[in-house]
Amino acid sequence: MNAFTFSDMGSITRTQLGDQVPLELFRTIRLIGMYQGLPMGGKGTTLTVGRKIGESLPVNSLEELLQLIQDLKIGIPRVLSREEGTVRVAMDDCFCKGLPVMDEKMVCDLEGAIMEGALSRIWGKRVNVRETKCNVSGHEHCEYEIRF
Ligand SMILES: [Zn+2]
Repeated sequence: MNAFTFSDMGSITRTQLGDQVPLELFRTIRLIGMYQGLPMGGKGTTLTVGRKIGESLPVNSLEELLQLIQDLKIGIPRVLSREEGTVRVAMDDCFCKGLPVMDEKMVCDLEGAIMEGALSRIWGKRVNVRETKCNVSGHEHCEYEIRF
């Protein structure tokens, strides 16, 4: 074996601490490690990392992707509108909920890139996902615009 798959990630045999880690750890990796640790807020790297994760997910439709995002407790996605070439998705209870508000900062770009990678593979075409709202910038929820 020379590369991990998403199904390998679910192969967990540790007996004392189980299969969960605290949200603080996920946030620390995402926001202190990636967002603050990488140059330019990790923009290019985050896109590369997120797309790769998205491509690896075992999902075959937008609905399955949104269900997996909820199962992984990233947030609770909800489709707001569906038009020709555009889907808008709100993310309730996003992993960032409760963080201090910082003007003009949107921090859930990795999650958008994950959707971008998954949907590009599923639909077999170029897909662009942009974060348009974020709890951290003071909005009522996080939100994404998916264009294809
Ligand atoms: Zn968020």
